[in-house]
Amino acid sequence: MAKKKAPPPVYGTSPAEVRAFLTSWAAGGYVPDRFGDVVCGCGERALHILLDDDAGVVIRACPVCEEEHPLGDSEEFIDDDTEPGECTCPCGTSIFNAVIGLALYKDDADPPAIRWVSVGLRCTSCSQIACYGDWKNEHPDVDDYLHRL
Ligand SMILES: [Zn+2]
Ligand SMILES: [Zn+2]
Repeated sequence: MAKKKAPPPVYGTSPAEVRAFLTSWAAGGYVPDRFGDVVCGCGERALHILLDDDAGVVIRACPVCEEEHPLGDSEEFIDDDTEPGECTCPCGTSIFNAVIGLALYKDDADPPAIRWVSVGLRCTSCSQIACYGDWKNEHPDVDDYLHRL
């Protein structure tokens, strides 16, 4: 059987391109319905991202003001066993623009509940875009989750 080729790397300059990437990637088999750009409290968008996809935890860390903040409901899943690792681009840089994609349950719930989380990162140095983690999530309120990026 022919060996399947790895997909070519994707590059982009804007958060819209990260959203488009997450849509085509469909992590877990779910196309995200909502997206949130990750921005530090100080306004910085070039951030370190740490994640533990077994635990369902993703954290932003700001290189400017040094604020660290667990995204969405991540804080609920942080315990002694959580080991968030810093994301690093193949080029060696670890500063990214981050977009969180949220696939939702398609039922009549209002607000809709989250089904799947994916973390899209764009390297601020070489512009490569990739999905660095994704996991099942059952947060009942997508707007609440997005308010806590
Ligand atoms: Zn900051
Ligand atoms: Zn890079």
